[in-house]
Amino acid sequence: MAKQIITVIPGDGIGPDIIDATIKVLDKAGCNFEYEYADAGLTALENHGDLVPESTLALIEKNKIALKGPLTTPVGDGFTSINVTLRKHFQLYANVRPVLSFKGTKARYENIDIITIRENTEGMYSGLGQTVSEDGNHAEAMSLVTREGAERIVTFAYETAIKEGRKKVTAVHKANILKSTSGLFLKVAREVAARYPQIESTEMIVDNCCMQLVMNPEQFDVIVTTNLFGDILSDLCAGLVGGLGMAPGANIGNGCAIFEAVHGSAPDIAGKNLANPTSVILAAIQMLEYLGMADKADNIRRAITDVIETGDRTTRDLGGTHGTSDFTQAVLERL
Ligand code: NAD
Repeated sequence: MAKQIITVIPGDGIGPDIIDATIKVLDKAGCNFEYEYADAGLTALENHGDLVPESTLALIEKNKIALKGPLTTPVGDGFTSINVTLRKHFQLYANVRPVLSFKGTKARYENIDIITIRENTEGMYSGLGQTVSEDGNHAEAMSLVTREGAERIVTFAYETAIKEGRKKVTAVHKANILKSTSGLFLKVAREVAARYPQIESTEMIVDNCCMQLVMNPEQFDVIVTTNLFGDILSDLCAGLVGGLGMAPGANIGNGCAIFEAVHGSAPDIAGKNLANPTSVILAAIQMLEYLGMADKADNIRRAITDVIETGDRTTRDLGGTHGTSDFTQAVLERL
């Protein structure tokens, strides 16, 4: 059988180190992938004069699966977020962010297992109608919700719940105030919920959801919501399990998917062998599950769980004293 080819984008800052660690883990687990490397972000701007070169887009298009390190978006006018560009270009409409408690972390909770499914192409991040008046005193932006987009993401959430044997889907909205956009999302969410009587369906206003996530997070299973709310809620969820170093994300469209860490390029610790590679390794686990390689995914999850639980060579953000390479070695020894 032909080898599965993965497009690998090492990215900026800590990206190359944590991606390198992840590739070692995938290889040691016997995944037998072939990798084709591409640049994006600041590295690409320096090497090719473009944050997202055409050659990178072409490679993602060809291989359909990409593993991506965090990218630095230069601050200033004229640079749109690279991640938003990639999500739009490939119509990666579902952003899937699971968080799971690992014993041995400094997290506040022990039994968290929540997936946030965030609509990834519409909402407040549609990029439409962004204007600032000439005097700089009046700014506008447009939020977009379509029936098609809402139905697609809510259906995706229920199908994920079924596939993963989960019990409950909570639609998060602000339909009491944002009557048009969030109102349409909630209306469609209710219609889709009615098609899945085997799954418990609940709905919650986003501000209450934030409080409930902090007070009683065990009540949540799958959360489905619009772009901006999902962005914020999924970081809140990452905080419940020990921070951004523990949070992966998958961007999934029709036939194309990009897997990444939720955190950024961490310029403050870049090049210092301090980064925790767990988020990208967990993103690679999501990739394996997407590719139907659940046995390999389980193996790697077991290895990383054991390293964190036993505190064997963990990184500083996990309460340890070790660096990226020692942590990776500890994972490799368990595979
Ligand atoms: P960040 O996530 O890079 O860092 C926030 C804090 O968390 C820092 O103190 C950092 O040291 C720490 N941290 C992050 N990842 C870590 C890891 N794996 N191990 C240990 N500590 C870790 O956020 P920021 O500083 O706001 O952003 C830096 C750059 O990253 C910006 O240019 C931003 O645009 C970009 N960014 C990219 C992505 C992405 O590509 N998906 C996401 C968010 C931010």
